[in-house]
Amino acid sequence: MSRGAVCGYTGGMSEGARPYLTVPRLEGLPWLVHGFGTAGWQEEDLRAAAGFERFRPVIMRQVHSDLAHRIDAAPEGRLEGDALMTCVPGLLLVVRTADCLPAFLVDEGNRAVAAVHCGWRGTQERILEKAVQAMARDYGSAPGDMLAALGPCIGSTCYEVGPEVRTSFLRAGFPPSILAECPGGRGRYMLDLRASNIWLLEGLGIRKENILDSGAACTHCELSLLSYRRDRREERRMVNFIGLRPAPGAA
Ligand SMILES: [Zn+2]
Repeated sequence: MSRGAVCGYTGGMSEGARPYLTVPRLEGLPWLVHGFGTAGWQEEDLRAAAGFERFRPVIMRQVHSDLAHRIDAAPEGRLEGDALMTCVPGLLLVVRTADCLPAFLVDEGNRAVAAVHCGWRGTQERILEKAVQAMARDYGSAPGDMLAALGPCIGSTCYEVGPEVRTSFLRAGFPPSILAECPGGRGRYMLDLRASNIWLLEGLGIRKENILDSGAACTHCELSLLSYRRDRREERRMVNFIGLRPAPGAA
């Protein structure tokens, strides 16, 4: 792990490091590019960075839904939804987060990827499950062979929610263990967004060792990451991206 790394992934805000985090297991795939953004990496950086010239970024208007889109070419307008998937080289799938969980799905055998935005609403609507199912349908991806990488999100000790959120998760079939009662009672709960999504992945047959999760970093506690709850700055988000590299010489 390099100096300045948060959460067991490499990169981060230390001098000379890339301003995004990478997952060692995915770094080993030469056909893939990916990164979980930090505070110092915005959309314009992505467009300007060396090595990204041959990629077309695909950026959604995220609406906390369970909508997953298959992307075969850069779309004309801005799509609405919370998951993107592709098997086409040269497209860079982007999800923007500040406390929500960014997740990447990778099917090595079929060379297909997805980027998923998992806020509490999308998680409760099982957006990650919808993305896994969409990859199975469109690319023949078998959950038992898929990798799932989870980026930094707000930690369970910082994510207080009301009883109505707990009720909606339980109604959607999630186990009570993903919510803990707030210290001191008060009828409020602490939501574990990461554990909720890991529970979904495991339920789909994604193997434990293929869930790549650093676990530790909390966007709310870690100042090199953006947190909506901490900063209340509506406009700034971390830019997370994944895509297939274009073949050398391809247009
Ligand atoms: Zn925290």
